[in-house]
Amino acid sequence: MTDWLPAGKKAAICFSIDDIHPAKSTDYYEAGGDLDQGSLGLVKWLLDRHPKLKVTLFTTADWRQISPVPTRKALAAIPGLRDKFYLAGRWKKGSMQLDRHPRFVEFLNAWDRAEIAFHGLYHTHKGLKIPVEFQNQSEKKFSWMLDEMIRIFEQAKLQHVKGICPPGWNAPDSLLNQLVAHGIRYVNSARDIFTEISSDAITNMSGIKGVPLIYPKFLKNDQLLHIPANFQATSTPERAKQILENGGLLSIKAHIVKTAMGFTILDGVDQLYMNYLDVLLGSLENEYGDSLWWTSMGEITDYTFAQKSKVKEVAA
Ligand SMILES: [Zn+2]
Repeated sequence: MTDWLPAGKKAAICFSIDDIHPAKSTDYYEAGGDLDQGSLGLVKWLLDRHPKLKVTLFTTADWRQISPVPTRKALAAIPGLRDKFYLAGRWKKGSMQLDRHPRFVEFLNAWDRAEIAFHGLYHTHKGLKIPVEFQNQSEKKFSWMLDEMIRIFEQAKLQHVKGICPPGWNAPDSLLNQLVAHGIRYVNSARDIFTEISSDAITNMSGIKGVPLIYPKFLKNDQLLHIPANFQATSTPERAKQILENGGLLSIKAHIVKTAMGFTILDGVDQLYMNYLDVLLGSLENEYGDSLWWTSMGEITDYTFAQKSKVKEVAA
């Protein structure tokens, strides 16, 4: 894809955060529920310092995951059987359902530089890979899950764009079919922070493999736009510059939770990560000025879909 950048822009930058849900610091861990007193306050601080920066908050409709790894160790050790059970405790259904947390919804709706998009229905799965919600279910089951996810967002009156980051990034082909069927226009699946940057680099880490590492790409007969993530807290400023030098999308990923049940998440939002981004973004602003498109995944989607229909009109 060559025409995804607006006139005058040489490269682009976007920022997305996964796992947003209403849990507070008085729960197992905070995930946005403390509003500006918690991790989202740190994100706001960064946005205040960089007026062109936008953030996409991938939000779960009814978060049920408590531990990202199995806590039922004996059961988890039995191949076959372990795939049939949830291997850690879960939040009771509805506890973190968005429409039951109106102050959280109100806070997100009032934040004009935050774009809300989907991050699954429950964010859990049976078996060892707890956070990978979309695995080998039937396409019919995927359809039901997406129906339910969208229904909860609408019931909560949470303003959002039609984009998704599938929990654990896994996006089977039958899920992609159902995303299209449900009117979802972009998917942020591939996350690759290791593959070396070049204009023809393809993704080879989490999520969809073999799609461009630094550019968006249409899938499913141009009905669904894939947007990669290629940078996190442990990535170097050189990587960011290489992406921009190649006319790419610097797609920064974070997780709203820093520590969950004793596990530290490397790209979790904390003051240190926000400080790093503050310095990095400042230097990119100085170096690239107006040639850099400060955007969001939803905006990129709107722009590329509009370009595509223009091309079709010309062809007709
Ligand atoms: Zn997640």
